[in-house]
Amino acid sequence: PPDVESLGRATWTFLHTTAAYYPESPTPTQRAHMLQLLHSLPQLYPCSHCAGDLGARLQRRPPDVRSRAALSAWLCATHNEVNVMLGKPTFDCARVDERWKDGPKD
Ligand code: FAD
Repeated sequence: PPDVESLGRATWTFLHTTAAYYPESPTPTQRAHMLQLLHSLPQLYPCSHCAGDLGARLQRRPPDVRSRAALSAWLCATHNEVNVMLGKPTFDCARVDERWKDGPKD
């Protein structure tokens, strides 16, 4: 079976980076593709309890795909919910672009 920790790190890297470079004003087609990507994870993610947990979260707090900022904030909040569940520290979502897009200042 896959290593749930390294799979998780790789997947969060992919998702946060993709959100960081998502369009400011996505077209309806781009929004639909992002929704498909996120809603595919509960079906396909190769950690079945993680997938089930994510499916429930997507039902409770549907992804906000209206803009880059909205998607990045939604994903940060979702990752923080998982962090709390796992007893990990939460991340300051004001720093999400610094972490995943811009890098640290100077
Ligand atoms: P990770 O949580 O993998 O984070 C990687 C990096 O992201 C951190 O070093 C930090 O720089 C940054 N970061 C942290 N929080 C945020 C945030 N809120 N916003 C932006 N950036 C942030 N594991 C389980 O044991 N059970 C589960 O049910 C489970 N469900 C998961 C569901 C999904 C969709 C994913 C992608 C992963 C899931 N995992 C689950 C794995 C788990 O979330 C971690 O990825 C794994 O435990 C490794 O943790 P880590 O401490 O290396 O950091």
